[in-house]
Amino acid sequence: MKTVKPAEGETFDIELEEDLLRQNQELARKNHELLEKYNVHAVDILGSIGSGKTTIVQQLVKNLNGIYRMAAVAGDLTTTIDANRIQKKGASVIQANTGKECHLDANLVKKALAELDLEKLDLLFIENVGNLICPGEFPLGAHQRIVVVSTTEGPYMIVKHPYILMDASIIVINKIDLAEAMDVDLNQLKKDALNIKPELKVVFTNGRTGEGIKELIEALNLPRR
Ligand code: MG
Ligand code: ZN
Repeated sequence: MKTVKPAEGETFDIELEEDLLRQNQELARKNHELLEKYNVHAVDILGSIGSGKTTIVQQLVKNLNGIYRMAAVAGDLTTTIDANRIQKKGASVIQANTGKECHLDANLVKKALAELDLEKLDLLFIENVGNLICPGEFPLGAHQRIVVVSTTEGPYMIVKHPYILMDASIIVINKIDLAEAMDVDLNQLKKDALNIKPELKVVFTNGRTGEGIKELIEALNLPRR
């Protein structure tokens, strides 16, 4: 499996100044242009560690196998655990190691894109580093963004992270089988999400069993191939 890493001094940090955020935006725009050129639809997946991002990507790849030619970029500080899990389901995976950085940036995604044969791809899933704060500041060039939250994160997960939802089109509320044990009201979570962004599509899933994945695929409204 191929791995890309930022070169020394190449990493974008959250404490940086406006112009570096602008640079990231410019690189994201270029990534987007490249994806468009090759007709690759890219989906960005955000969520905390343990929310189930990788499991959701695994389920999507499993269900869309044979319909789309897929690849994934797996963002992680140092490990390849998630990348290996996704690869097993039938997508080629590029591991993007951020080192100490808590988010992917457009530069690292640009490097990952350079490692992929875009001509032979229809769909690209970009799993960000597990974190619900700064990844929102770093657009990567994807066509749409999914935020995954889990009932195990408790009842206030959504209200505490309003900004991350602003650029998302779908919120996945995962591990619904554990809602009762966690004393979490699923309808309240949905209300919280729609309060922040009324046009969000809300999908309930159990990544482990695959419940809700068909609904998520419908909500994604992927381009036909
Ligand atoms: Mg993961
Ligand atoms: Zn970060």
